[in-house]
Amino acid sequence: MRSSRTFLPLVAAALCAGAPGLAAQSLADRYRPAADSIIAAALKDSAAWNRLAELTDRFGNRLSGSDALEHAIDWVLGEMRRDGLDNVRGEPVMVPHWVRGEELADLVSPRPMRLAMLGLGGSVGTPERGLTAEVLVVSSFDELTRRAAEARGKIVLFDAPYVNYGQTVRYRGAGAVAAARAGAVAALIRSVAAYSIRSPHTGAMNYDSTAPRIPAAALSVEDAMMLHRMADRGERVVVKLVMGARTLPDSPSRNSVGELVGREKPEEVVVVSGHLDSWDVGQGAMDDGGGVVVSWEAVRLLKRLGLVPRRTIRVVGWTNEENGTRGGNGYRDQHAAELANHVLAIESDGGVFRPVEFGFTGSDSARALLRQIATLLRPVGADSIGPNGGGTDIGPIMRSGVPGMGLEVDGTKYFWFHHSPGDTVDKLDPHEMAQCVAAMAIMAYVVADMPDRLPRGPAPAAAGR
Ligand SMILES: [Zn+2]
Repeated sequence: MRSSRTFLPLVAAALCAGAPGLAAQSLADRYRPAADSIIAAALKDSAAWNRLAELTDRFGNRLSGSDALEHAIDWVLGEMRRDGLDNVRGEPVMVPHWVRGEELADLVSPRPMRLAMLGLGGSVGTPERGLTAEVLVVSSFDELTRRAAEARGKIVLFDAPYVNYGQTVRYRGAGAVAAARAGAVAALIRSVAAYSIRSPHTGAMNYDSTAPRIPAAALSVEDAMMLHRMADRGERVVVKLVMGARTLPDSPSRNSVGELVGREKPEEVVVVSGHLDSWDVGQGAMDDGGGVVVSWEAVRLLKRLGLVPRRTIRVVGWTNEENGTRGGNGYRDQHAAELANHVLAIESDGGVFRPVEFGFTGSDSARALLRQIATLLRPVGADSIGPNGGGTDIGPIMRSGVPGMGLEVDGTKYFWFHHSPGDTVDKLDPHEMAQCVAAMAIMAYVVADMPDRLPRGPAPAAAGR
């Protein structure tokens, strides 16, 4: 591994031996003029927000297997070509094709009421005329374990309060299997949402070989809590569930790729990315059209400013993050021979709100350099390097040894809208989104341009999230 000192002038290196602060000064100083020009250009207008609005207005949501996703990919590739990006292409992968069909959940007892529901992605459907059963409401997997004898033949509702996404999403992922093991005929969850105006939130669920495949859906937070209160009062809660969900044969899709080819080491690559697919509700603006547009705009901006780095910056709009990661896995396989030359992969998949920092997974020596680069981001806020970073789509190449980074943003509101009809562009602020563009452009540009290649460490044990 080479040290950052190798690109300090010799005299300065001699003077500052043992004073790492001066090394930091030097890398930051070297790139400050470029960074400042990137920030000024990015913050000058609302180009990124406008482009995201056009993408989401034109194509709406973009679930894997849908025409909308493929039409959006065609449009992105056409626009990238029009922007003058290099080597624009769609890289084919096959993706799962799940369709929701018609669906509803009706409270039958203690009073009739249409519930706010969304089937979970990957769920099987109910029989055509639906299924009607008494509901067992539990707050946790532990409570279901204690009350397993009561679950047979019922619909189990997990009314688990939102703690944080990572903890609470376990009920969405594993609720159906746990309920089926206890003999339930269907599973419902309280939507995994940090705030609710009675909109249900979908997302992926899983089956395994240990239990029958039962239908699974999310209720709005409000409706789940109401059913829980009814059950606590000793009322008999009965729900009719109708779901037309089914899984069709895999369908062709593409990762959308465009480049700014490096001027000295074009074979060395920095990836900037987001995923273009979304759930089939809302418009996939913050999850994750914004991540794609910010990555793409970062490269367009560099090109417009004439900032062509030593190494190649490659924009990837991943396909099929939400229900398969086939885009990320396909890229790893298709680019296997090239991965040793992947210097860094960055993903934005947390909504393009106010940038806070870049999370990084990689070697300590790389981290030290990235900390220096991050000081250039002070004017847009994202001036620190967090302990872990990555993204679902870059997970496969990170596990193959590529250092990974995630753009971290103010996440206060993200899980209010995530995977719900409310994921639309109006929730995003043009200025904050422009700050994300600036942060992405500076980080990618400096890593792609600095004389020494970002050092690799040992492959991280657990990459992605
Ligand atoms: Zn996402």
